[in-house]
Amino acid sequence: MTEELEQLQDLTRTFLAKESEPNHERWTEQHAVDREFWNKAGEIGLLCISCPTEYGGGGGTFAHEAVVLREQGYIADDCWSYQVHSPIVAHYINAYGSHERKQRWLPKLASGEFVGAIAMTEPGTGSDLQAVRTTARRDGDHYVINGAKTFITNGTHCDLVIIVARTSDAPGSKGLSLIVAETCDLDGFERGRVLQKIGAMGTDTRELAFTDMRVPAENLLGDQEGQGFVQLMRQLPQERLSIAVQAAAAAEHAVDLAIAYAKVRTAFGRTLLEFQNTRFVLAECRTEALALRTFIDHCIAEHVAGRLDGATASMAKYLATDKECEIVDRCLQIFGGYGYMTEYPIARMYAAARVQKIYGGTNEIMKELIARSL
Ligand SMILES: Cc1cc2nc3c(=O)[nH]c(=O)nc-3n(C[C@H](O)[C@H](O)[C@H](O)COP(=O)(O)OP(=O)(O)OC[C@H]3O[C@@H](n4cnc5c(N)ncnc54)[C@H](O)[C@@H]3O)c2cc1C
Repeated sequence: MTEELEQLQDLTRTFLAKESEPNHERWTEQHAVDREFWNKAGEIGLLCISCPTEYGGGGGTFAHEAVVLREQGYIADDCWSYQVHSPIVAHYINAYGSHERKQRWLPKLASGEFVGAIAMTEPGTGSDLQAVRTTARRDGDHYVINGAKTFITNGTHCDLVIIVARTSDAPGSKGLSLIVAETCDLDGFERGRVLQKIGAMGTDTRELAFTDMRVPAENLLGDQEGQGFVQLMRQLPQERLSIAVQAAAAAEHAVDLAIAYAKVRTAFGRTLLEFQNTRFVLAECRTEALALRTFIDHCIAEHVAGRLDGATASMAKYLATDKECEIVDRCLQIFGGYGYMTEYPIARMYAAARVQKIYGGTNEIMKELIARSL
């Protein structure tokens, strides 16, 4: 942390307390945050905070992104998919877009005029990205895109979507490219079902379908086709670290909630915190949450210094999300029956935590990637 990051932390905390926290229940019911919330976040400078200022960004580093992600974890925010929009989508564009495309898209993503999504997963393939079947066929100065994607975060609100598509018949990863579509009034672009999830129901997760959808050829990310897989591999460590940052913060928050509850709830004439089991569980959880934060802080510093390798990012993602689920589960137990009631934040945290082991690359895939580095 620096003085500047602390100021950002205060700003984010105040903003989320006023504009996000009071709306979580309503957003959960409507399966999405209010569209204007994105504009409000843009107005105070929370979006694209680590993109260059010449493109409307905040000119910060991943540490700035991490501050926002961590504040979300500290209030158990299971609604706002900032993590997809800012540290992921904007970063792909910043890394691989032409100067002209960056000028066109990044200021809009920074202001909240555009909401970003990334569409990799298909009904037939998730972990195995090399099996993507969506095609993008070149036709003059356009690509014609056909295919279907599923589980797409920000599927309802997205004005811009990065699509993983096959631009040639080259086998496996060689034929994959990343192509951006602006969705407003785009013929052939269809938002499918809003998917009913067991947790994080305030995030908007949908199917998307593309039928003879024409997008300008200059929307290809990178200077030639067939680079999609390599581009994904380069950016995925940041995506994984982003998930880990939120997971570590959520674990700490769960422990805080359980301690507060254990101090006031009584049974057999004592507070729960006076039982040795409660004390030991909370002592263990507190220790593990602190150890986790320390490791994640180390990874953030490594990433800011340009040294975070893919295997270490995978370790961060797998360890943080496994521990998040374990710690939240143990803390929920301290709430007894109230821990199972969705009006208690710990219950919603339990459901929201589960997906963290699945998306961004499953934890089994993380272990594969770590194992390859051994
Ligand atoms: C709420 C939510 C939001 C999401 N948001 C997005 C999004 O915005 N954009 C997007 O593109 N995707 C998104 N996803 C998709 C997510 O990234 C995939 O679900 C994930 O990558 C797993 O793919 P799959 O569901 O097809 O599972 P599969 O790949 O079918 O895997 C099934 C099981 O097999 C295991 N497995 C697979 N291969 C191996 C292997 N080689 N070794 C060992 N075990 C293996 C997996 O670990 C898993 O346990 C989201 C998913 C969810 C649930």
